[in-house]
Amino acid sequence: MNRPLLLSLAIGACAVALPARAQLTRPAAEQALAREIYKEFIEIPSGYTTGSTTPVARAAEARLRAAGFPAADIHVDGPDPRKLNLVVRYHGSGARKPLLLLAHTDVVEAKREDWTMDPFQLIEKDGYFYGRGTGDDKAQAAVWIANLIQYKKEGFTPDRDLIVALTADEEGGGPFNGVDWLLTNHRDWIDAEYALNEGGWGESVDGKRIANDLQVSEKYVLNLRFEVRNKGGHSSLPVEDNAINHLAGALDRVAHFGFPLKTNEVTAEYFKQIAKTESGALKADLEQVAAGSQAAMQRVAKGSVSWNATLRTTCIATMLEGGHAMNALPQLAAATVNCRVLPEDGADYVLSAIRKVVADTAVVVTSARGEHGPSSPLRADVVQGVTKLTQEMWPGTVTIPIMVMGGTDGRSTRAAGIPTYGVQGFFFDRDDIRFHGRDERMRVRSFYEGHAFLYELVKRLSATTPAS
Ligand SMILES: [Zn+2]
Repeated sequence: MNRPLLLSLAIGACAVALPARAQLTRPAAEQALAREIYKEFIEIPSGYTTGSTTPVARAAEARLRAAGFPAADIHVDGPDPRKLNLVVRYHGSGARKPLLLLAHTDVVEAKREDWTMDPFQLIEKDGYFYGRGTGDDKAQAAVWIANLIQYKKEGFTPDRDLIVALTADEEGGGPFNGVDWLLTNHRDWIDAEYALNEGGWGESVDGKRIANDLQVSEKYVLNLRFEVRNKGGHSSLPVEDNAINHLAGALDRVAHFGFPLKTNEVTAEYFKQIAKTESGALKADLEQVAAGSQAAMQRVAKGSVSWNATLRTTCIATMLEGGHAMNALPQLAAATVNCRVLPEDGADYVLSAIRKVVADTAVVVTSARGEHGPSSPLRADVVQGVTKLTQEMWPGTVTIPIMVMGGTDGRSTRAAGIPTYGVQGFFFDRDDIRFHGRDERMRVRSFYEGHAFLYELVKRLSATTPAS
């Protein structure tokens, strides 16, 4: 039988269910602590424009100090009194380089009037936890702290330092991003062999678990400005050389242009694994995409907005300005074109490709700086560790490496040479993701299972004899 060989190589589901070894949830006392910290974090309004992350950092610090962590191992610091970050180091034997456990503590704004309940109260109802940040990203923040406290209680000695960083202002950009600040000012506090972060979660359909995502890569944002200037004139004497017409033509050409369809190491693996969750013609197409078939890529991209975005760099008009009077020829017409770029496509390539498509010298196309981070390598210890634990906890659930369209702080850590993996073990219904939206929620069961998943995963990744 070659199955054992295949099993050691495959990173997806295997046909044979492995005997369950990992616990699905942690003991009640540990769950109670995790929930308490979660509640405390959720109930601190840390919206990135109106709130502050400092009380979250202080709350975590108080928990850690009460659990016996020495003050010397905890830093609460940042560029602004309202934007403090917390970094705590749990000492291991030092046999290997540290493991960084990241979570952000700011949240997208939530208005009471938009929600059906108070967004800054943890409400448990109908099997869900409701509140801003229940999914993004205070569950992971709370779980990192609760588990660190538990490791200390057990006297667990990892073979590497475990560093938890709870950071400010991941959402919405701005000058106070905690990860960027730490990398620039206190790299030594968070320097690590690699990091675990948000960005990958479990996908379920009506509560049925399908896939546990492992985010290893993300597209980056490149904003282009299209600008046409013109001397204008009276609208009763129209001329062909009209700024708005130039711009409209350019945008229309961009709308009908598609960047080449292709896969990379990560997305090829993604399509290979996601094929296992489908059937029929679609399954065959997804397998062929993984194998590099252009025809299959065309079909798959046409059938799904998100698969299209996975297979190519995209650019789309998002904002417009132009004209100054109803009866005047416009002197300015401008648009913002928002590009989401594959990690392997350079900003210069995208800019020159778009200029070629625009093919009109009256339209000046310029770009803002694109932040560009590499993909994280598909490290065998992380990929196999996540796959094996996922199989043990939720037999039949595949582990899928993904590239995400949105951004996380992993962009900065990857660019700084710390490979970063988004993995949580919290499962959300694929068609009901409420991050950033109203009535954000997390299944109660999922919270406790993610708590157990991350407890076990971090232990295995920092044990002297790694689980085979
Ligand atoms: Zn987030």
